Amino acid sequence: MKIGVLALQGDFDAHRRRLEELGAEVVLVKKPEQLDAIDGLIIPGGESGTFLKLLGEEGFDKLRQFVHLKPTFGTCAGAILLASEVENPQQKGLGAINIRIRRNAYGRQIDSSIREGRLGSSPLEMVFIRAPKIEHVGEGVEILATEGTDSVAVRQGRAMAATFHPELSDDTRVHKAFLDLVADALVEHRRGVFPGRPSLSEELTRDRCRDGG
Ligand code: GLN
Repeated sequence: MKIGVLALQGDFDAHRRRLEELGAEVVLVKKPEQLDAIDGLIIPGGESGTFLKLLGEEGFDKLRQFVHLKPTFGTCAGAILLASEVENPQQKGLGAINIRIRRNAYGRQIDSSIREGRLGSSPLEMVFIRAPKIEHVGEGVEILATEGTDSVAVRQGRAMAATFHPELSDDTRVHKAFLDLVADALVEHRRGVFPGRPSLSEELTRDRCRDGG
């Protein structure tokens, strides 16, 4: 499984280390054409406006195609890039996740902090650095993690986003969840490549009929 980490700026190296620790092969992505050779992508934290500048029109378009096709995980600035709507100030998003997100939403005093939130129902350490806030979760978006009353990690289809930095904590569960998403997408893709095989839903229906319920 080949995972790309967008390495234009920001804290891509911490993601690389975490992914390698979990057994993935990592490619540092600096050029749009490298997106063709990976099974999933992490967009790290950094400064989302700077990402947009460095990507340029062509890079942005290529990235938009990628995130609608293959598993992508955005943390902090990466989450901002994946959103459908960005505020403070407004800027364009890749539209992979139907959320409205507000940049630098926690103000100066608590602009960086380590807090305990929940991943599903279990506790998780969360490192926030000039974090954005998910202000609205739209239709089709699943909430994966919360901190207080805020949704801080979400998923829609094959796109995942977190407003905190799981790569800076020792807990590996969030990256594991992303690698599971990539593995599932690969299985689905292979089924598609061998058209003789039934689809997953066909197989499930068949199993249910066979089991008599
Ligand atoms: N404040 C940054 C932005 O608005 C995000 C900060 C981060 O990625 N740690 O893009």
